[in-house]
Amino acid sequence: MYRVEQLIGGVWGAGGDGGELVVADPADGSPVSTAPVATPDEVAKAVTAARGAAPGWAGTAPAERAAALRRAADAVEAAAEELAQATTAEMGKPLDDARGGVAAGVGTLRQYAELGPLRGGRTLHGAADALDFMLPEPRGVVAAITPWNDPVAVSCGLLGAALVTGNVVLHKPSERTPATGWLLARTLDGVLPPGVLSLLTGGAEVGAALAGQEVDVVAHVGSTATGRAVAAACARTGAKALLENGGSDPLIVDAGVDPVWAAEQAALGSFANAGQICVAVERVYVHRDLAEDFVDLLVERAGALRVGPGRDPGTQLGPLVDRRHRDHVHGQVTAAVAEGARLRAGGTLPDGPGAFYPATVVTDCTDEMALVREETFGPVAPVVVVDSFSEALKRAARSPYGLGATVLTGSMSHARRAARELPVGTVKINAVFGGAPGGAAQPRRGSGQGFGYGPELLDEMTATKVVHLAAPADGHW
Ligand code: NAD
Repeated sequence: MYRVEQLIGGVWGAGGDGGELVVADPADGSPVSTAPVATPDEVAKAVTAARGAAPGWAGTAPAERAAALRRAADAVEAAAEELAQATTAEMGKPLDDARGGVAAGVGTLRQYAELGPLRGGRTLHGAADALDFMLPEPRGVVAAITPWNDPVAVSCGLLGAALVTGNVVLHKPSERTPATGWLLARTLDGVLPPGVLSLLTGGAEVGAALAGQEVDVVAHVGSTATGRAVAAACARTGAKALLENGGSDPLIVDAGVDPVWAAEQAALGSFANAGQICVAVERVYVHRDLAEDFVDLLVERAGALRVGPGRDPGTQLGPLVDRRHRDHVHGQVTAAVAEGARLRAGGTLPDGPGAFYPATVVTDCTDEMALVREETFGPVAPVVVVDSFSEALKRAARSPYGLGATVLTGSMSHARRAARELPVGTVKINAVFGGAPGGAAQPRRGSGQGFGYGPELLDEMTATKVVHLAAPADGHW
């Protein structure tokens, strides 16, 4: 059992007068961790304390901050197994996936440690006796509010970029993974000056209290509804809102592709991490020519997944994060079936403990169904049959979200059209996941705003100042 403590003003165990929350293992319902719930007063005090620590960290040489981040990466690597075990215990994903998430976090910290001190501004060319230049400065106090679905990878990105650029950070991890957030904060705090990192725990109300404070940036990774509430709070305080939110990513399966490969890709995209990935495949547009074979093969794959607790070796499909989320997923599937969709695999609530949900394939879907239009965030592949690539592109583009999209095609011209016509941040041709290191995209529409990843996140975490140094009236410097 993890007993989480908050870190406020450099003091562990501070606050917690708002009560306690208990996280249950989604595989069997047993208690895993307890965490204090911060009161609004504690949140305010944490922000004031962080503000006090900000000038010291902002004034630390960039190379020194980078050295601290390098030590942080080493420390997270040394604690990798503990972090992965906590992730799996709290949110249920297969342990190997959790290990992958920690490794991704370590890699990101190392990238930012390298890139941070290399940043600078442009020099400008004005009057011959003047000096003009641009200076990136830390924004100040960053509130990082993070989700549970890949807690270490996501948090390391935001925290690493904010810290290396000289900001102090208040981290509010998800109420579903507080122990993972606590272990990460303990690890990072060990290599940072006191007060540079704070940890506040609790649920939505604590996130809302933090987002409403006079901070400089609120970086939120999470659902679209929350992102909109964060944006509204930032509009009131003047803080910058950085939002990486939900999606309903389409997969387009073009005519002429191998149905076996297409089904493999669809299964990976829809069922990995039980579909709880921001860029999971949320809807499939398949060409009529191969639709029947494709669906049969996808159903076969859905049935072949090894289901079990994430901690069991070989598990491919763990439970969903909790029963509340399972109700949301099942509600969307049931509503689609009531509206005329056909269940081809899964779609029923299993008996027994935990929040398990079977890999589910639904055909005869329409774009109007919530299962297709909204984010499901579960192991569900809704399939829509189309008659042409143009129809697929048009229907894929019509969405309240704009995170990512994948196209499986052997046609270079179709690949080019997809890259041009899909209004999303990331277009993937012929692979549902993957990409070069450092890739960063700006989400569109309800999926958020700003760069949440990559070298560009360092720009988001700084504000540029232009300096114009003119010679005095007598011309002598
Ligand atoms: P969520 O928005 O419910 O919670 C995320 C964080 O926000 C939590 O710490 C939560 O306590 C906090 N929060 C909740 N309400 C708040 C409020 N009113 N004000 C301030 N903070 C508040 O999201 P979740 O369920 O934890 O995560 C799943 C969602 O995250 C999915 O929609 C997924 O697509 C998205 N996600 C997006 C990305 C991306 O890069 N675009 C990455 C991972 C997850």
